[in-house]
This record gives sequence, C-alpha cells and structure tokens, in this order.
Amino acid sequence: MDLAKLRNIGVVAHIDAGKTTVSERILFFSGVEHRFGQVDEGTTVLDWMPEERERGITITAAATRLDWRGFAVNLIDTPGHVDFTVEVERCMRVLDGAILVIDAVAGVQAQSETVWRQIRRHGVPALAFVNKCDRPGADFLAAVASLRERLDAPAVALQVPLMGEVGVRGAVDLLTRRGREYAADGSGEWVEVGVPEELADEVEILRSDLVESLAEEDEELLAEVLEDREPALEGLVAALRRRTIAGSLVPVLCGAALRNVGVQPVLDAVVDYLPSPAELPAVEGCRPDGTPGEVRHPRADEPLSALAFKLHADTHGDLTFVRIYSGTLAPGDQILNPRTRKIERVARLLRMHADARLALDSVGPGEIVALTGLKTTATGDTLTDRSSPILLESTGFPEPVISMMLEPRSSGDRDKLRSALQRLEHEDPTLGVCEDEETGQWEVAGMGELHLEVVLHRLESEHRVEVGRGQPRVAYREAPRRAGCGSGRIDRVLGGKDIFGEVEVELAPAPGVGSIRLEWADDGAVPRAFREGVAEALLLGGQVGPRFGFPLVDGVVRVVGGGSRQGKDSELGFRQAAAVALRTAMGEARVALLEPVMSFEIESPAEFVSGIIADLNGRRADMSDLLVQGQDRLVVGRVPLAHMFGYSTAVRSLSQGRASFSMEPSGFAEVPAEELEARGLVWH
Ligand code: GDP
Ligand code: MG
Repeated sequence: MDLAKLRNIGVVAHIDAGKTTVSERILFFSGVEHRFGQVDEGTTVLDWMPEERERGITITAAATRLDWRGFAVNLIDTPGHVDFTVEVERCMRVLDGAILVIDAVAGVQAQSETVWRQIRRHGVPALAFVNKCDRPGADFLAAVASLRERLDAPAVALQVPLMGEVGVRGAVDLLTRRGREYAADGSGEWVEVGVPEELADEVEILRSDLVESLAEEDEELLAEVLEDREPALEGLVAALRRRTIAGSLVPVLCGAALRNVGVQPVLDAVVDYLPSPAELPAVEGCRPDGTPGEVRHPRADEPLSALAFKLHADTHGDLTFVRIYSGTLAPGDQILNPRTRKIERVARLLRMHADARLALDSVGPGEIVALTGLKTTATGDTLTDRSSPILLESTGFPEPVISMMLEPRSSGDRDKLRSALQRLEHEDPTLGVCEDEETGQWEVAGMGELHLEVVLHRLESEHRVEVGRGQPRVAYREAPRRAGCGSGRIDRVLGGKDIFGEVEVELAPAPGVGSIRLEWADDGAVPRAFREGVAEALLLGGQVGPRFGFPLVDGVVRVVGGGSRQGKDSELGFRQAAAVALRTAMGEARVALLEPVMSFEIESPAEFVSGIIADLNGRRADMSDLLVQGQDRLVVGRVPLAHMFGYSTAVRSLSQGRASFSMEPSGFAEVPAEELEARGLVWH
C-alpha cells in the first residue's frame, strides 16, 4: 500500500453540531454504506452501541475504512462528549488530521473550544466544516470569524455558500472558482455551475484574502501576487496543503450534511489538504527501562511499534484497535507489551467498517486495524517488536475519584450483573468494579459523574440488568502519618489439624508512593513457602483502612519478624496472623483521611469571570492563575472533587453556556477535620 495514499482522520465537534451525520454521509458518498443512517431514527452505522443510539451521542469510537479518489481513508469516530476526554485524547493521538464540524447558526460553542485545544495539544492538522447552512439564521462568514475570534484558529474560507430560498443549495470553491449545485431532492447529486453574478465580487474578495494568506509564507506566490500575475491552481493547492499540514491555516468549507449538500468536497479536502502518515514527524518514545531517545519512522522495514487506542468487548471476542507507526504486523505474530512485559500473540487482523469486518494478511505503517487474540493489552498500551522494543507513551491511568454502590434489583440478576460489570471493566481502563460477596452489592468507581451515569445506562439498555443505586461519593483514601507496629500469632487446632502462623509488621508513612508497598526484612522469620500468602493477606488487609474503612495508600508495610513451629505451620495460620498484625499496626499508626483533588481550567468570556470565581471560592478552590486570552479569561487551580458535584450545570448557568471547563485528577489531599461530619464521615 502506498503510504502517500492513506489518510487517518477523525470528525470532532460540539455535541449536536452534526458529527455523526457528517461521518455517516462521508461513508455513504464513498460507497461504504448504501442507505442513509438517520441519527434521529436511531439507525446510524457508526453509533452502533444501543446506548449511543438511544442517547443520540457517540460514546465509543469506531474506526471505519473508506476509499475516495483512489485514496484509503480511515475514519475514526471520536466521542462527542467532553466527559469522555480520556477517550478523545487517545483518538487524537492516533489521528493524522481532523475535521472540526461547527453549527452555522451557533458558530463556535463551548465544546468546540475543548476539542480545538486537544487538536492543538496533539498538533493535529485540521479542516473545518460549517454544517447546518440550511437552517434559518445560518451565517457562514460569521462562523469563520468565530473560529478566528473564539478559537484563535487560523481559519480561512475555502468556499462560499450558494444560498437559495430554503437555505444552502451548494458552494463555490474559491481556488477553482467553480460552483456545485446539489439536487433539491437531497440525493447528493450535483451539477457544476459558474459563479452567479451577484456573488462575483464576494468570491473575488474572499479569494484574494485566501491567496494573500497563502503568499505570506510562499515567496514564489508572493512575487506573483505583487506583480499581479494569476498564480497557477496547482501552486495554490500545494501551498494550502503545506500550510494546513503545518497547522498555520485551517481551510473552512460549508454545507448541510443532513440535506447532502457539500459533503463530497469535504472528502476532496481530506485527500488534498490533510497529511498522509508519511508526511508526519517520526514517533518518539523511550526504551521499556525508561531510557529516552527512541525514534520510529513510518517505514515497513523498521521494528514494529503500535499503540492500542481502543478496546471493545463484543460477542465475537475482544477487539483491540491499534495504530501502527512502524514495521508490519501479520496474524500469528508474537509481539511485546512493555507495560505488562507479556508477549501477545495476534490471532486476526481486521479492517473495520462499523460492526462489519474484513480479515487481512498483513498491515504496514500508518494503518489502523482491529486485532483479536490479545489477552493483557489495555487502552493506551504500546505493542512492539520483541528484540527492539519501544514504549510510545508512558500510560498510567488516573486513579478513580468517584464511586457508587449498585445492587441487582432481583437476586436472580446477580450473575448477570457480575458478568456485565466485568465486561465493562475490561473495556474501560478508567472503570473499577468490586463486589461485596456477602451482600451482593458492587462498588463501581470511575472518573466522573457522567462516566458512572453512562455505565448505569449501558447496564440497563445493553446488558438488560436492572440495578438499584446509591449516591455517588468521592473515593477517599487513608494514609499513615506516623508509624505503627503490630504482631499476630495464630496457634490452635481446627478440625483436628494444627494451625500455626506468626507475623510481625511495621507500617510506615511513605508520602507519594500511591498504593501500599510491601517490603521484607530478610531474616527468614516467615518461612518462604508462606510468603506469598502473607503478601496477599497484607495487600487485602490494606484495602480496608482503620479509620473509615477506605483503602490505605502512601505507606510501606514491612514484615520485620515472625515465627515457625515444625510440623504445625500452615498457610491459613500465616494469612490470619498477617491480617491481625496489620490491623494492630494500623491501629497504632496515626492515619489521615485523604480526598481526591482535581486540577481545573475554566475558560470563559471576561464578563462572567467574577461570578465564576466567587462560586469557586465557595467550593474551597485554590486558584493559582488568571490568564487573559483575547476576550477570554482562563482560571486555573485545584479544588477538592467533593465540592464539584454538578459543576458542569453550575458553570453553564453562571456563564450562559459560554464557559468551557475541564478537570482532571491531581492527587489526594487531607480532608479538613471540620468537614468530616458534614460529609457524613464517622470515625470508627
Ligand atoms: P453530533 O452530536 O455532533 O454527532 O450530531 P448529530 O449528527 O447527531 O446531529 C445532531 C442533530 O442535528 C440531529 O438531529 C441531526 O439530524 C441534525 N443535523 C445534522 N446535520 C444537519 C444539517 O445539515 N442541517 C440540519 N438542519 N440539521 C442537521
Ligand atoms: Mg453523534
């Protein structure tokens, strides 16, 4: 496959701007899909999880292959909701170009700002499509201006809409000065038209704006413009391509996806202006031991490097979506996952069209495919050649910060709930589930309120389990602040058998280590045969802290002694002794209660900022910065998550929906003593 003829793109947008409709029409016009998906009727191809169809939003990204003018395009349907940012980020990482869809009436909206920041952060070249030009009040040039003003995006109009009595009929391309008029029946058929007289002036003015922008960084073009010569079309196209790939221009197109107006030119622009994998810089990473400086070029003869960006558990087995950066991959290949240090064997390579699939014999650099047969690979993992490994991204998912209790509505649903939750957990590395076997209740932990909402919805609609739920609460931790010691000794007869075990431990504070670390003072006091059992019992015991029963973190448990009785030692005895020893040590240590703290960024038009700040003060936020960005202000700081429930609604009403906000976990901090009672936390 010729790498120059490959494009990996994604469509991103504010919710409801038309991302799914645009993607569906792209599939239709490229011949992949032979009927129109209708978002409103719940029949779209890309939103193929029932949960998405019902809500009309796209949660899980699917990758789909299509052909256009002899080019192969992998279309990645990115999640549209800001609360799924981890997933959007993963997708950005594997995209080579993006289509930003905005609404012709609303212009740039809060989430367009969020996705635009992600586009910039990952250096993804972009086009913009001003959709819904059929709606009353649609204003293409105002939308282009809002891209410039609100996003500070280097947007340039590439087209001018041809407006009819009922909205948009077609568009004129500024570079070619050729127009297309689409059939009124919505079939997407079009005929070529000239520039209508009443538009001629506008077309010429906008065209010279575009050509002048291109000439800024192109001496040959500049000379032609200055000498009033007409630049050749190829030169203009090549210049626009260079500038788009460099990210210094964003060409803007227009249309109405729902009416099938203006979709094919978007595909043309993808091919003409967005990069192939070969035109991007080589990927960088480190060796699995952390030594930096590894580089891989998009060439088939380099060692394999790939990134797993999406996992999907389905009835045919688990699919792992990967982007291949270098080397080639074939079924049967054994590849390394440097995080788990496990070798994975690839069973099948599949090219995906929403939920249909085509098996492949091999794939090369730049490709996006789904793999089957992988056992230990999670979202964000690197997959690499065994003898020349590279780690592309130091992953590490944020610890869950919010949790909720669930239980099946009927006891007959217990098994169903268990297998459903285990599936969801496997698909989503940011979701944690844990069963209390006595009560049949589950604790489900995740990254935010909407995250848990969607899990609940999927349980009911996709897995058909009715669940009862508790209030969401933040995921607290307990951490030792002063050391403690404890010993446990079990010496008894149970069912005619001698049971003996003796363990002595020290628990010491270790700020910043995260979960509990285990150490052995190696004097052999605990017989080797029982060490594994002792370790397990200690880690399990650490799940229930002494003050409120939350998991223990930031501590070291050191086994400092023990005992042994010839012929009486038993696994059970040592496990129990370890549990008793740890409980005693925790009782002696001074333990603090920690809560998750979030770092936040709120971007808002200046006029709403004082209200937003006053509200944040009431939430005990610690604001570290107030930055000026044109008309907008950016408020940066940290805040306890416990005070941020329902914040997305609050900030919307404080800013008339104009502020955009993002929040991510940023460690844990001690809960002030005076707040314990108000939060319903009772000392054990
Ligand atoms: P997404 O949330 O960005 O994926 O947006 P959807 O594709 O789900 O579309 C949101 C709503 O806008 C749906 O009701 C669509 O039918 C409607 N829509 C999409 N494109 C157009 C368009 O070109 N014109 C009009 N009038 N409505 C559109
Ligand atoms: Mg959608």
